[in-house]
Amino acid sequence: MAKKQFKAESKRLLEMMINSIYTHKEIFLRELISNASDAMDKLYFKSMQENLGITRENLQIDLAFDKEKRIITVSDNGIGMDKDELENNLGVIAQSGSFKFKQDNTDTDKEEVDVIGQFGVGFYSAFMVAKKVEVLTKKYGEDTAYLWTSEGVDGYTITDAQKDTNGTVITLYIKENADEEDYDEFLQEYKLKSLVKRYSDYIRYPIKMETTHRKPVEGKEGEYEDEKSIETLNSMVPIWKKSKQELTDEQYNQYYKEKFMDYVDPLLHIHSKTEGTATYNALLFIPKKAPFDFYTKEYEKGLQLYSSGVMIMEKCADLLPDYFSFVRGLVDSEDLSLNISREMLQHDRQLKLIAKSLERSIKNELKKLQNNDREKYEEFWKNFGLQIKYGLYSSYGMQKEFLQDLLMFTSSAEKKLTTLEEYVTRMKEGQDAIYFAAGESIAKLDSLPQTEMLKDKGYEILYLTDNVDEFIIRMLVDYDGKEFKSIQSSDADFETEEEKKEKKEKSEQNKDLLAEMKKALEGRCADVRLSSKLRSHPVCLTSDSDVSLEMEKVLGAMPGNEMKPKADRVLEINGDHPIFSKLQFLYDNDKDKLAAYADILYDQALLIEGLDIEDPVAYCNKICDLMIN
Ligand code: ADP
Repeated sequence: MAKKQFKAESKRLLEMMINSIYTHKEIFLRELISNASDAMDKLYFKSMQENLGITRENLQIDLAFDKEKRIITVSDNGIGMDKDELENNLGVIAQSGSFKFKQDNTDTDKEEVDVIGQFGVGFYSAFMVAKKVEVLTKKYGEDTAYLWTSEGVDGYTITDAQKDTNGTVITLYIKENADEEDYDEFLQEYKLKSLVKRYSDYIRYPIKMETTHRKPVEGKEGEYEDEKSIETLNSMVPIWKKSKQELTDEQYNQYYKEKFMDYVDPLLHIHSKTEGTATYNALLFIPKKAPFDFYTKEYEKGLQLYSSGVMIMEKCADLLPDYFSFVRGLVDSEDLSLNISREMLQHDRQLKLIAKSLERSIKNELKKLQNNDREKYEEFWKNFGLQIKYGLYSSYGMQKEFLQDLLMFTSSAEKKLTTLEEYVTRMKEGQDAIYFAAGESIAKLDSLPQTEMLKDKGYEILYLTDNVDEFIIRMLVDYDGKEFKSIQSSDADFETEEEKKEKKEKSEQNKDLLAEMKKALEGRCADVRLSSKLRSHPVCLTSDSDVSLEMEKVLGAMPGNEMKPKADRVLEINGDHPIFSKLQFLYDNDKDKLAAYADILYDQALLIEGLDIEDPVAYCNKICDLMIN
């Protein structure tokens, strides 16, 4: 029988895998066992659909080795393959054909791991330890069996063969030890046992192997003999079906890293079993770091969906709301039917109930973390807080009650993150609003003139530095009955009734002066007023409208040419500052100079707010004039 050649790309990949020193040679066993398990899933699935009467108990994987003959066999009684399938599945590596392997890559080890992970070329990893591989297989329901044989890059042959039962037997002819390479270890019982435990413990079918046990010889004290028996090597029960008490953090972390391709432990795991309106097991993880593509369109949210232990969907997006899109993990429910289609799933009532329940439990766990392990929560917040804020915003506030307690903002008090609840409990006697300021950085906000008076009173200010922050706060309107108030808004005032009365009188007395300044700033500034927010600083800039100065900046930076809403700027002047007496003097004596002063003060207020001044040269010249005269 003529030998068939592997497809060209397959050949290169195979060469690379076989010939390089691969640090994880041992994964070949995991790959073969996973394939066997998949083949049995397929048969079980077929049986469910066609009522073939095959139960899980009928299915198993047999592992065997022969040290002398240097062979390992992995057998399953799964679906098997017909001739075409053998040809298509084992003749071409990385079916897509789009695979381009970088031949000149020097960092081979790393590349290989990636190749295997990405392209699912699991079967070929057998050639890392075997000089020859045979696949004897018979498809369920067919009469003919086939034998596929290959010694690696040369190609492969397929011949008719004899096999009584359906399924596949893979025989590996293990390489001889060479140089630094130890292949003998794979012909050891303990090694194979430990590999199964390590990589394939949750395979749901029993992986059986004949093992040796030492046992005392009856009647002969102190003497032992070897006894051989068939042992099931894997614990089979998937990790999520075990009880929490049985599992260590280490086991959860290991599982997460292996299944979800992360290099670091997760920040948190949530393992829940729920019965009632929705019955399911869920094992969820919150990664420590946001994946590199998390805040891009490429990122796909979703949880693995299992129906009674059989995976039916790799990424079920309907199980996670957008604000929790960072959660990884799986849900296993008996309430879902195995052969449910994607379209049907979307309308599945059970799935909706599960999603609702998961959402609550994720939130509760996050809240718990916030209360009990603040450092971890803050780490979480730094990575994923923005997602929660976007979620809150895009739900038009409908999720207010649900999500507001997860929010954190930096407070002026110690420049530390605080929750709204904590802020409210620290509010001072007489303080009736939650104060906030929005801007580019904590440092800039902290030096705003308006903060001084509030800080003196012991009031805290929330510093909002993400673009979306102020929009959220405005959507929330209030928290715990306390209104949010921007210190950059013209209607915020921090004075006592007494002080306000005084201010009103003073404004009345100086209304012509203020009107004169307003005239000088016509077209740039909506109004000039005496401020009720300032202590030692001369001026500040606020907004009269619902659009704040910061929102104007954020909206202005967004793409689109349509008319962007603008803030109605108000120049606020400190009536108790010496500059005010000077303005009064100029009003009486030199109106031109008053106009120049109005210009300068307005520009200063812009600079303080982090806004551009229209004409920096004119501004500097005016200052210079003052310096000379
Ligand atoms: P992957 O498992 O990622 O698809 P592999 O290279 O490991 O890639 O396997 C290629 C294909 O060969 C599988 O998808 C499957 O169709 C078939 N196959 C491999 N092992 C078996 C087996 N034991 N029984 C039936 N089919 C198998």
